[in-house]
Parts: sequence; structure tokens; C-alpha cells
Amino acid sequence: YLTFLMNKEACVKLVLLGDSGVGKSCIVLRFVRGQFDPTSKFMLCTSALGVTVGASFLSQTIALQDSTTVKFEIWDTAGQERYAALAPLYYRGAAVAVIVYDITSPDSFNKAQYWVKELQKHGTPDIVMALVGNKADLQENREVSAQDGIDYAEKNGMFFIETSAKTADNINQLFEPEAGICNRAIV
Ligand code: GDP
Ligand code: MG
Repeated sequence: YLTFLMNKEACVKLVLLGDSGVGKSCIVLRFVRGQFDPTSKFMLCTSALGVTVGASFLSQTIALQDSTTVKFEIWDTAGQERYAALAPLYYRGAAVAVIVYDITSPDSFNKAQYWVKELQKHGTPDIVMALVGNKADLQENREVSAQDGIDYAEKNGMFFIETSAKTADNINQLFEPEAGICNRAIV
């Protein structure tokens, strides 16, 4: 799951999990294309995985200070979050899991905890997990405190960050070598 190509490029499979509507696809689009398009429902290309599962797949390469690069292969569910039985097809072999909830939705925070437990049981051993509270721009509708996110992440040895795919706040920080999952994934 962590393949070094020519010593200089690490290839990391990254999977996004979380309730439908929390902003997973928008986070990917923001990170890879620098765009936010709320109207677009299927903004990613179809996966090589196959039509029956319909995972979306994008890749993005990041340069590290020592001139190595990390190529993220990003797997996003194509609206099939409800079918929990399909999830192992997405996270199989993933080195990194980004588990997203919506800070205005306690239900989505509970669901995020469900995914953490599932990955602890059935995910890649030593998988790097990041807990992401998205829609941080909606402060006036916040129903999950940042402290609750921090506490849960700390207890489970996860990286934690609040993001907004809408304003681009902290999106690059999520993946950035110094602070984010990228560094943790290749250590
Ligand atoms: P997914 O089902 O988890 O992939 O969620 P989407 O990426 O499709 O986003 C679901 C909805 O949330 C869309 O209407 C987006 O416009 C909206 N959304 C996503 N990210 C944000 C964000 O950071 N802030 C706000 N205000 N809305 C967001
Ligand atoms: Mg989506």
C-alpha cells in the first residue's frame, strides 16, 4: 500500500469516508482542482474499479522538501455511502483514511466514529487516519464543538483538522507535508 517508485515518488492510496453530504467530494475537488462547485454532483472521473461499485478516482502529487514526491491516489465514494457493505472495496489497501463529518451535524460526527472503529478492526494495519470537521464556514450553525473533535481524534491517535471546502480553509493543510496526513503516511 505504500510503494516507492524510483526512490523519489511514494504512491499512497487515500480513501474518504463519512456520511453522504458532509463534503467529501468538495474537499477532493478543492484539493485537486482548487475549485468549489456546489452544483456538480459527479465531478470526478469514473474509477478503474468498475461500473458496479462506481468509486471515483483522482490523483494529486505533492512535493516534499527533500525533493521526493508523494502521489495520492484518492478514492471517493460515488454517493454509495449508505451501502456499508461496499465500504471494504474502497478502503482495501488504503494507507490513509480521511474520515469526514459536518460540524453542523452531530449525526455525521457519530457516523465518523463508526468509520474509525470499522477501520481499526478491518482496515490496513497501521493505517493513518485523519478526522476532518468540514463546513467550518458555517460557524453559526455549529453543533459539534472543535474540542469534541480534538478529544476523539487524540484518543484514537488520529490527525485532526477543521476545514471548509467552500472557502478553502485548511484544505491544503490537511494534506501538507509538515502538519498533515502526508507526512504521517510516509513516516
Ligand atoms: P459528499 O456526499 O460527502 O461527497 O458531499 P459533497 O461534496 O457532495 O457536498 C455536499 C453538500 O455540502 C454540497 O451541497 C456542497 O455544496 C456542500 N458543502 C461541501 N463542503 C462545504 C463547506 O465546506 N461549506 C459549506 N457551507 N458547504 C459545503
Ligand atoms: Mg460525494
